[in-house]
Amino acid sequence: MIDDTTVERALAGKGFLPADGAVRTAANLIAAGRQWLQRDAPKYNPAWSDGRVRLALDQQIMTEAGIDVGGVDGVEGVMTQYGWEQFQNKERRGRAAAGLPRTSPAFCKQSDAAKFYGAPGTNHTTITPPYRLFYGDSPVRSMTINAKCAQSALRAMQAILDHYGADRIHTLGLDRYGGCYNNRVMRGGTKLSMHAYACAIDWDPARNPLRADHRTAVFAKPEYAAFLDAWEAEGWTSLGRARDFDWMHVQAADL
Ligand SMILES: [Zn+2]
Repeated sequence: MIDDTTVERALAGKGFLPADGAVRTAANLIAAGRQWLQRDAPKYNPAWSDGRVRLALDQQIMTEAGIDVGGVDGVEGVMTQYGWEQFQNKERRGRAAAGLPRTSPAFCKQSDAAKFYGAPGTNHTTITPPYRLFYGDSPVRSMTINAKCAQSALRAMQAILDHYGADRIHTLGLDRYGGCYNNRVMRGGTKLSMHAYACAIDWDPARNPLRADHRTAVFAKPEYAAFLDAWEAEGWTSLGRARDFDWMHVQAADL
């Protein structure tokens, strides 16, 4: 569900609630929402229950945000569920772009990876990236990744495709895949790498070598900011941005 504060803001923006921050109740939220639906949602019926109205408000907001939820009918279907996920991502991306902290880290801390992701080698799934990747010179058509971060990785790559387009992805080398699952310890350490849990991905390792810093790693250049933004918007951590080394590496776990 979209939180009440966001719904209130939308209603205030439409003039159905005062914009002065007056104390609001669930009842006047619904009453204002009914006025909005009456005006803008063709399927709205005053006989709808308050619960149905509340859900329809989510659908109305998502529709206006450009997310196709299959119409505003106050009924939760798969398109509404998928819409919520997209809406959340949009909001997170907006927050990241505005330099605001993430609202809810989607993943675990690195130290809890075994509990969250399961033992190395388990809970794997296969995804097909939305654009073609290359491992060296070989095309990569699917990736093995932990199921808990698979959809998130797909969304990040879709956002990257939306932003850059396939041609620019190739020109910039954003399609240079460096691997995901690899049951090994961290370089120079004894703890397991996040790659062992299949929740980390390396990109363009040749031009972002382990010891390169922001002066030499290509991902530190401005034209790559949207690439790293897309991963961070999904709650992933870029070691380059966080620690200024291993710029090739993004992981679905906090440090
Ligand atoms: Zn890595």
